[in-house]
Amino acid sequence: MLKKIKRKSLLYKSGVEYADFCLNHVEGCSHGCNFPCYAFQMSRRFGKSKTYEDWIKPKLVENALELLDKEIPKYKDQINFVHLCFMTDPFMYKQKEVQDMTLKIIEKLNKNNIRCTVLTKGIYPKALTNTDKYKTINEYGITLVSLNDKFKKDFEAYSAPYSERIKALEHLHNKGLRTWVSMEPYPTPNLDNDQNLKKLLNKIKFVDKIIFGKLNYNVVSSQFKDNAEFYENCANQVIKFCELNDIKYHIKFGTKKEFNKETAVMFNKVCNAPISI
Ligand code: SF4
Repeated sequence: MLKKIKRKSLLYKSGVEYADFCLNHVEGCSHGCNFPCYAFQMSRRFGKSKTYEDWIKPKLVENALELLDKEIPKYKDQINFVHLCFMTDPFMYKQKEVQDMTLKIIEKLNKNNIRCTVLTKGIYPKALTNTDKYKTINEYGITLVSLNDKFKKDFEAYSAPYSERIKALEHLHNKGLRTWVSMEPYPTPNLDNDQNLKKLLNKIKFVDKIIFGKLNYNVVSSQFKDNAEFYENCANQVIKFCELNDIKYHIKFGTKKEFNKETAVMFNKVCNAPISI
């Protein structure tokens, strides 16, 4: 059983360049990534998780649904969509309590005609294909920056295996749901000894959208001597791949010399076009 906490509020307007409103119904994350994890750094700075060991023992916000009942009427007119989550993982691997709460939250938001974008390093449950409960306007994403198991062991040891993560996402796509991939933080080659961007992109060719971003706050990565040129080339490769395969894309600020803020609005509109399966 996970520890429980109570919060005073849940929904907030996010500062992330492609986001709108966001919520985090868990404190901590058992994936324990060390890219490093920005969420853990913030949690430590604000005294919520004192150590890494605290951080990887997630605590569930037990009053999340009650908070939503209060906050949805308050913010409904301002919300375009709600993102789950930037400061934890909504489908944390092997954390059924977290997954169950996430499903209830998506259901509640959808019942109120609020669209969700979701991002995980876990496995999407097949339950999401039940369109009576979860609307088809949602967009389901995974984070994927490598296919190298050694890299995964070093940087995101407790998240879902890459192959299972992709398989679950492809299942949602095959059932007609919208899917996307966040390729962020993409590592420099001195951190991933078996890097292959072309192979990685081809594995996720079925998705509707890709976000690509560099690895920040990592000393080894910043020491990679051709860092700026490396990310410029990778970003160009992602753009070319997306254009060829009719995939929408956004390159995060600071990854490429020229920043295109136009593409940051990729989630702003509901896409009603049928997807080709
Ligand atoms: S999945 Fe996200 S929130 Fe969880 S540890 Fe990894 S980077 Fe941090």
